[in-house]
Amino acid sequence: MSNTAYIGIGSNLGSPRENCERSIVLLGAHPKIEVTARSSFYKTEPVGSRDQDWFLNVAIQIATDLEPLALLDALLSIESSMGRIRAEKWGPRIIDLDILLYEDSVIKSDRLKIPHPEMTQRGFVLAPLAQLAPNLIHPMAKKTIRQLLSELPEDKKVVRL
Ligand code: ADP
Ligand code: MG
Repeated sequence: MSNTAYIGIGSNLGSPRENCERSIVLLGAHPKIEVTARSSFYKTEPVGSRDQDWFLNVAIQIATDLEPLALLDALLSIESSMGRIRAEKWGPRIIDLDILLYEDSVIKSDRLKIPHPEMTQRGFVLAPLAQLAPNLIHPMAKKTIRQLLSELPEDKKVVRL
């Protein structure tokens, strides 16, 4: 498989750990996706509505032969198959699968933005990603993931499990 990408995974409904694990199994079962590394789990304070449970987050590295839009379709179809219903933005969710980085691609279409637009502001994305790829350079910020994480204000709690 020829391209490396990083996927951010989150859940705060039902059994978050099982949901995250299951999504990783489903990703790896795709004929054009191989899961090549995963971070620890992180327990993270929710962004947006605070009247919801904490999230469980994990990041994975994949090797894939899917182009970015086809990869997005694969993620959305796994989300649906796991019963995700889209309600309020930043509200509770059974599973959220986001493409964080895809090689050093920069994509700004209506359906897909890569790098994921909010990743540089989010400890729950940067902390697990930094475990997998601390020296990877963010193609727009031109900084390493470790550097971006170190520059983040510590306003939201992110606890490595
Ligand atoms: P969020 O993850 O921001 O809370 P959703 O998971 O509900 O929001 O995703 C809404 C839409 O975001 C998706 O249908 C998809 O078209 C779009 N999107 C844009 N860029 C990305 C990306 N890098 N990864 C995943 N979805 C993306
Ligand atoms: Mg999403």
